[in-house]
Amino acid sequence: MTKIKMTTPLVELDGDEMTRILWQKIKEILILPYVDLKTEYYDLGLPERERTGDKVTSDAAYAIKKYGVGVKCATITPNAQRVEEYKLSKMWKSPNGTVRSILDGTVFRAPVLVDGIKPLVSNWTKPITIARHAYGDVYAGVEAYVPEGGKVYMELPSGEKKLIKEMPSAGVIQGMHNLDASIAGFARSCFNYALSTKQDLWFATKDTISKIYDHRFKDIFAEIYEAEYASEFEKAGIEYFYTLIDDAVARVMRSKGGFIWACKNYDGDVMSDMLATAFGSLAMMTSVLVSPDGKYEYEAAHGTVTRHYYKHLKGEETSTNSVATIFAWTGALAKRGELDHNDALVEFARKLEKATTDTIESGVMTKDLVGLFDKEGVTARGVNSVDFLKAIAERL
Ligand code: NAP
Ligand code: MG
Repeated sequence: MTKIKMTTPLVELDGDEMTRILWQKIKEILILPYVDLKTEYYDLGLPERERTGDKVTSDAAYAIKKYGVGVKCATITPNAQRVEEYKLSKMWKSPNGTVRSILDGTVFRAPVLVDGIKPLVSNWTKPITIARHAYGDVYAGVEAYVPEGGKVYMELPSGEKKLIKEMPSAGVIQGMHNLDASIAGFARSCFNYALSTKQDLWFATKDTISKIYDHRFKDIFAEIYEAEYASEFEKAGIEYFYTLIDDAVARVMRSKGGFIWACKNYDGDVMSDMLATAFGSLAMMTSVLVSPDGKYEYEAAHGTVTRHYYKHLKGEETSTNSVATIFAWTGALAKRGELDHNDALVEFARKLEKATTDTIESGVMTKDLVGLFDKEGVTARGVNSVDFLKAIAERL
């Protein structure tokens, strides 16, 4: 069989623990036999981050900036225990945080749906993608406890002092901010992603109550949409609409799915956990970082699955779900193919996605899904990590 050729390299970011093991196996069993894979490889495994003083992480992010598309394996974000375990010279920062700060993007998370694993909300028949603004608001807030009460002000650069509250007794205060430039970047990432996936875009805030802060988000989205995207949306047959967050929540519950829900930082944090749970499993949730200038980094939403890795090290069999990591690869290959007008590559990526969901629908799956699976006439069978990949390969 002739392998599919690639013209531009994909930026490959390897990672840690169980997902690093799966990464290798996915390439070996599902990609390399079919694609003449061209990647620019960066090892973001913790030992290599330590060896390079974490330079490898920023190098990888700049490579994504250069080539446009990357695929990332889950990585350890070190804490005190990891510093000890890996004998680190420093508690290196979260690689995702580093990449995000260089690409300045928005994270989109979408579940992989399969027949047999039903969302808890029965009318959701298509995936709902959450787009979370990952800058500012309460995450960069300044807070204080005011034990005696008293007058609390906000002082502006103009010198104006605004009274927040004359507190009659003890209480708490909080100050937070966002930046026009960050909100605009968030808006463009959302509009670009809606166009690239041909889905409607919903955006909601609490602008009725927050007449300056949240209203600014609403206005920036509206201005950018009218000036830069309205005609493209019309051509693509998709819609952008803004509504109050309360109304959005009610509509999401009643919807069939199949759209992107853009959320402010806190809303996105909370709502993405609700959606992941309602759609079934974190191991079936994909994630892509999209920068305002249209660069893409695909990954799984889960971590390095440490507990399974220790079993693997002891020589025990694991049944770790590779679906989200496979879909990170297919998302990246399809995007690379689309940008390079490489139809064969796009087609292969779609075929691999279908082979993956078909495998589960036929009853072959990793053990985490067995308890969730319910399909008439099909009995769920839990297999080990590698046998699952081999079962998918049989359908390619
Ligand atoms: P995790 O790796 O997502 O795993 C938590 C638990 O969820 C696992 O122990 C497992 O449950 C289940 N699980 C997650 N993914 C699974 C899969 N693919 N197949 C089967 N079961 C799966 O989260 P964590 O244990 O909190 O974090 C481990 C490491 O990952 C940490 O060092 C953290 O820094 C890192 N992390 C990285 C990223 C990223 O790179 N994007 C994201 C989150 C966490 P059972 O043990 O019950 O089977
Ligand atoms: Mg959360």
